Amino acid sequence: AAEEEEDRQILTKSDSSFFVEGIVRHLRRTVRSGKTKPEAWRRLQLQGLLRLLVEREEDISRALAQDLRKSAYETYIFEISLAVEECKLALKKLRSWMAPQKVAGTVATFPSSGAIVPEPLGVALVISTWNFPFVLAVNPMIGAIAAGCAVVLKPSEIAPATSALLAKLIPLYLDTSAIQVVEGGVPEITTLLQQNWDKIFYTGNSKVGRIIMAAASKHLTPVTLELGGKCPVYIDSTANLKVALRRIAVGKWGNNNGQACIAPDYILAEDSIAPRVVDVLKETIVEFFGKDPKTSKDLSRIVNQFHFQRLMDLLNDSRTLGKIVHGGEQDAANLYIAPTVLYDVPLNVPIMTEEIFGPLLPIIKVKGAAEAIAFITERSKPLAFYVFTTDKKIAQLMVSEVSAGGIVVNDTCLQFVVPGLPFGGVGESGTGAYHGKFSFDTFSNHKAVLYRQEVGDVYARYPPHTKHKQKI
Ligand code: NAD
Repeated sequence: AAEEEEDRQILTKSDSSFFVEGIVRHLRRTVRSGKTKPEAWRRLQLQGLLRLLVEREEDISRALAQDLRKSAYETYIFEISLAVEECKLALKKLRSWMAPQKVAGTVATFPSSGAIVPEPLGVALVISTWNFPFVLAVNPMIGAIAAGCAVVLKPSEIAPATSALLAKLIPLYLDTSAIQVVEGGVPEITTLLQQNWDKIFYTGNSKVGRIIMAAASKHLTPVTLELGGKCPVYIDSTANLKVALRRIAVGKWGNNNGQACIAPDYILAEDSIAPRVVDVLKETIVEFFGKDPKTSKDLSRIVNQFHFQRLMDLLNDSRTLGKIVHGGEQDAANLYIAPTVLYDVPLNVPIMTEEIFGPLLPIIKVKGAAEAIAFITERSKPLAFYVFTTDKKIAQLMVSEVSAGGIVVNDTCLQFVVPGLPFGGVGESGTGAYHGKFSFDTFSNHKAVLYRQEVGDVYARYPPHTKHKQKI
């Protein structure tokens, strides 16, 4: 009772490292008590989260409009409905995910039976980012809850309205003895990272990913790092350009105006079709967003002045300026940058060496599939790679030769919405994966259990290892 009173006092304090330490201690005590382990508790939390998603749709939509001027449609399709589906799937599959999986023994262990028994890792820290500030915070939490973990969520301070909303709503719908939100930026995260976690799940850039991994190493905490980088697209001469460019354009500008980790970053176009790629892309942009895209309701704004200036620097580089073939308009006061296409850009300029993460799309000419593969594999392994071709052999070649977190043939970004596919990066684009069962696994320890009986002893196993025994 004294400990509980201490916890209660700690949880009502705010804004100090004492507060963070207190939360972690409190959550750890909850996990040790066994409260988060039963299926019933996990189910109750997932149902609470589902209710939050349904009942607070308008609040969520408003927060995202405030942070990114995201349209209600985009918020529903790419944030709320994805979280709803993930939550429903976890509720439907929870029992089977939690069930031990049988494993056969071997001759050496006969008679025996084996089992993989999933158990919650313990107390998890989920650190989220600003570009899909709702779904990228909630979906990892769904995995943590399904796995029976307690969790602290740290939303991104760069999407303050969404962060505040999560901090307000989560305690209203979920068990605060196991699920907490800590808002803040670098000072708060630094304190959080000093704690001893059983799992850290981080989404954001790879520079901070390194800080997270270094902090985790102190306590040998396992990490999942959902990072970014440049996601290439390859279009060959057999592709249907109208369909291909429609799907590229929606993946680029229809997803938060290019501020998405899986948005196409640049296009490698087979040189015989490259000029046509530019023309069809321009037509598609006008078709989607009109002659003056600034008036379109379907284009998000750049998240803040820092990122606006970063993108303007990429665009205003003297070596890049002459390469703009469409768009380029901007309005700093409204954090607006038009869908912009660049053609035949030099390869050593920042727009081709750094992740763009915004509405600029360079097109580079390549001779064919072999050059495209060489181009991609010489650089960091991407989070996503998209290939447009009707030649099945080329598609297979790309799938086998390009190492990436995910590959989509003849579309963009849809890998994110298939819960049966693991979502994660490789190398510089991240480590570990989630979505669906992969989320459950990410927050679970898969305990190896071997059941034996008293019968079935092979005496040769026991010392002394006499010659006689060795013959048996
Ligand atoms: P961000 O600035 O919101 O940072 C992400 C998180 O890291 C935030 O919670 C922030 O508080 C924390 N953080 C920032 N600086 C820190 C520091 N010095 N020490 C510790 N923590 C710190 O978001 P961002 O990094 O600008 O996000 C964009 C990047 O994230 C892009 O590279 C993008 O590709 C990647 N991303 C990846 C995924 C994915 O699922 N793989 C999804 C979205 C974004």
